[in-house]
Amino acid sequence: ETQETLLEVNNIEVIYNHVILVLKGVSLSVPKGGITALLGGNGAGKTTTLKAISNLLRSERGEVTKGSISYRGDAIAELNPADLVKRGVIQVMEGRHCFEHLTVEENLLTGAYTRTDGRKAADDLEMVYNYFPRLKERRKSQAGYTSGGEQQMCAIGRALMSRPEMILLDEPSMGLAPQLVEQIFEIVKAINEQEGVTILLAEQNTNVALRYAHYGYILESGRIVMDGPADELRENPDVKEFYLGVS
Ligand code: ATP
Repeated sequence: ETQETLLEVNNIEVIYNHVILVLKGVSLSVPKGGITALLGGNGAGKTTTLKAISNLLRSERGEVTKGSISYRGDAIAELNPADLVKRGVIQVMEGRHCFEHLTVEENLLTGAYTRTDGRKAADDLEMVYNYFPRLKERRKSQAGYTSGGEQQMCAIGRALMSRPEMILLDEPSMGLAPQLVEQIFEIVKAINEQEGVTILLAEQNTNVALRYAHYGYILESGRIVMDGPADELRENPDVKEFYLGVS
């Protein structure tokens, strides 16, 4: 059985400030319906790769200088993030980015801005609360006063409100206690399985990511050094030694 490819990144190079070469020819493909993990240490280029895909590099003085990126076969390099959302691709940025002065529910509703019909947004809100009961409990709280875990949930929930086909999820484990990390990954897995949302996940936490992803790419200093099905990567001696801390 062949899986349809949604996203294809082909040999991209990214340069910051006209001189700093950060991605040195990165290629990856994301099949529809799966969880694909982009792994690697601090500064390997994971965030840069996601920002290249969603065309968010411009404001950081970064530029894709080589290669191509396509979604469902169409070049997407020139699309702005709002157009990309209309195509079904949404990014959840590292560090959560909720609107601190809005309530949790208001934050979620900002994610439904592509909707026109009010009833649909209400249905989507119920769908999000179904995955994140904690957000329902906190719906009237100002987002800035909720915990780190709740803010991460809020950011993912807001992305879900746009009914995406694919979520680019940057470092969901960042700054969270292990138990909470596990809880969030369980929910991401449920969203993937039950809503059919394709996930491209950037993670430093190789151990957790490889337990939930179907396929992984390992990035080191701007190059993909290894890729394979997640269960094979977990058994690979180099991955064990350098990324899982066992040998
Ligand atoms: P992290 O987990 O820390 O986010 P990462 O794998 O996502 O790491 P990137 O954030 O993509 O890595 O950074 C890759 C490299 O690019 C790093 O060396 C970083 O210092 C550099 N870099 C990132 N943003 C910029 C920028 N705006 N200008 C110059 N260099 C940058």
